[in-house]
Amino acid sequence: MGLYKFEGGQGFVQDWIKPIGKIFINLLKLIAIPLIIASLIKGISDLKDISKFRQIGGRTIGFYLISTVVAVSIGLLIANIAQFKGSIAPETLAELQNAYSDGASGKMAAAAQQKSSGPLQFVVDMVPSNIFKAMADNGSMLQVIFFVIFFGISLLLIDPKKSAPVKAFFDGLNDVILKMVDLIMLIAPYAVFALLATLVVETTNPDLFIALGKYAISVVIGLATMIGIYLTIVYIFTGRKPGFFMKAMSPAQLLAFSTSSSAATLPVTMERVEEHLGVEKEVTSFVCPVGATINMDGTSLYQAIAAVFICQALDFDLSFSQQLTIVVTATLASIGSAAVPGAGMVMLVIVLEAVGLPADKLAIGLAMIFAVDRPLDMCRTVVNISGDATVAMLVGKSVGKLGEPRPKNWDDHLENVR
Ligand code: ASP
Repeated sequence: MGLYKFEGGQGFVQDWIKPIGKIFINLLKLIAIPLIIASLIKGISDLKDISKFRQIGGRTIGFYLISTVVAVSIGLLIANIAQFKGSIAPETLAELQNAYSDGASGKMAAAAQQKSSGPLQFVVDMVPSNIFKAMADNGSMLQVIFFVIFFGISLLLIDPKKSAPVKAFFDGLNDVILKMVDLIMLIAPYAVFALLATLVVETTNPDLFIALGKYAISVVIGLATMIGIYLTIVYIFTGRKPGFFMKAMSPAQLLAFSTSSSAATLPVTMERVEEHLGVEKEVTSFVCPVGATINMDGTSLYQAIAAVFICQALDFDLSFSQQLTIVVTATLASIGSAAVPGAGMVMLVIVLEAVGLPADKLAIGLAMIFAVDRPLDMCRTVVNISGDATVAMLVGKSVGKLGEPRPKNWDDHLENVR
């Protein structure tokens, strides 16, 4: 926490350490779209019949919805127990508002843009009009998934003699991409260090953290509860011990923590779920990319607590039906949140508007929580990807596609090519 106090320390990190983290994130983003394409096509074509795909799809969406509603409910429960009324002194509030009003108005503008579309807009958005355009933008992951599923199903429906070479191509491509992920991961330890060092030097005004302590601790307790729930559910339904799950997922969790982005972490999440948790490709390749974009338990739990915190701290009483509104809107908002840093806060604006918080209070409220948003974003992203892994295990178990772990190393075939 102290490097930013030394003269030159900040500049050194910015110039020489930050780029390592940036390169690493770029590499992960670079590989995400090719990975989704190759692995999902291979996954679907391995299924052999479409009814299995329908089964996996239905269960995935069902489990995702249930886990999100559970997360929001836990968030509300904790927020109501914590009681934030009067927890922020007026002078601290003014200070927070001063320091962060710019950031807050940026989030509000982004939310207004999201909201100006109709209720079915997200379905419309899922269907691309040009696949190359969709592939050119990492933010259009759902469009790519739509195209790939469409392609995979059509591949299942044609004459096997004709589909065989196409399948063989994607099979080989998939192996190449997975090897690229292995190679990228070789720099992960240095990159994680670089990302965290950059965050530390870029953090301003750490004193304000303390004022927001009760709120931040409530979010962290809620997130930890979610991890506890995942471990219990995995143990009950698959018999896998908590240590097994945490050991398998810890590299992906560390990466989620340091990048604050489920999308950037996706290649590693997929690899860990498949090779270390033992979920077969047919399930992993569908459940993980879809989960990265639509299943965000950590984000929805945070939105519930943040919404109650803002309302209570600003003396805006919430009735029971307004709390129910939070359940519905936070569930939908977490589906709509992009899997990138800070996205959860944009959608929080929509949750707060839905409960009727006046615009002036809303701006103050957002400015209020801005100071601690990044560390909480890091923690909620860990929960987001852990939730995806849990659902992958449950779906895998329920369709008989959960096996033994089979880790691969980057140098498995190195001897043959020397
Ligand atoms: N950063 C989160 C994620 O990528 C989204 C959010 O809560 O802001 O999963």
